Amino acid sequence: MVRLPASGAQITLRDPGGADEMLLHESHTHPIETALALLARLGGEQAQWADLVVTDFEFLLLSLRARRFGPLMALGFACPHCSARAEISFLLTDLQESVTPRSPAGVAAHASRPGWYTAGEAAFRLPTALDLAAAASAHDPAWVLAERCFEAGMARRERARVERLMGQMAPELSQPIAAACPECGAETEVALSVARIVIAELKREAAQLYDEIDLIAGAYHWPEAEILALPQQRRRLYAERIGERIRHAQARVA
Ligand SMILES: [Zn+2]
Repeated sequence: MVRLPASGAQITLRDPGGADEMLLHESHTHPIETALALLARLGGEQAQWADLVVTDFEFLLLSLRARRFGPLMALGFACPHCSARAEISFLLTDLQESVTPRSPAGVAAHASRPGWYTAGEAAFRLPTALDLAAAASAHDPAWVLAERCFEAGMARRERARVERLMGQMAPELSQPIAAACPECGAETEVALSVARIVIAELKREAAQLYDEIDLIAGAYHWPEAEILALPQQRRRLYAERIGERIRHAQARVA
């Protein structure tokens, strides 16, 4: 069970099975939309996934990622100074703990609009996963977020102040990670986009599914649907045994 930092909701996700992995691998939507579809499959109706505040959405994806692949995440980058390729790694729990939603002074729940807040003259709501998805495919993401989350007609000078408040109430876990080049020592920042990297990792892992189905179907003659219904670990163990047997047989022939 995961306790979400902004809403306090407690969420339990089941492990992805073969059918989830296949949909994941074959999905060509933006990673945020893919992630929302995956959460809906794994979490059912515990939440309105698209309405999760950005902090909670990204926190939940990182928790899912940590459960699948462990707590250490590595990001590759090219040094802007000497162009060397390097990698930085960090603990997901450190990132998750570094982000704490706060309730800034002067912000109150909106009197008549549920989910909205007021700060002085300004009214706004916190960006959700759906807002992120809409902004991600837009020409000007900041403008789209402002259109969706600020009350119409907000004065330009208010916007920067409200954006700061929103950042305190719903901080993003997608943030630049400080890194140093191992070759020349230059300091730099590596962009982290949570949905993008988590979905890319899950898709890469899901690509193994086809080899595993191929091996199991070839050896045991089980139909695809039955193989897809196996828990991932059992499917993988069968495929490893079959692969092992094939390698032994090939070694004997050679
Ligand atoms: Zn360098």
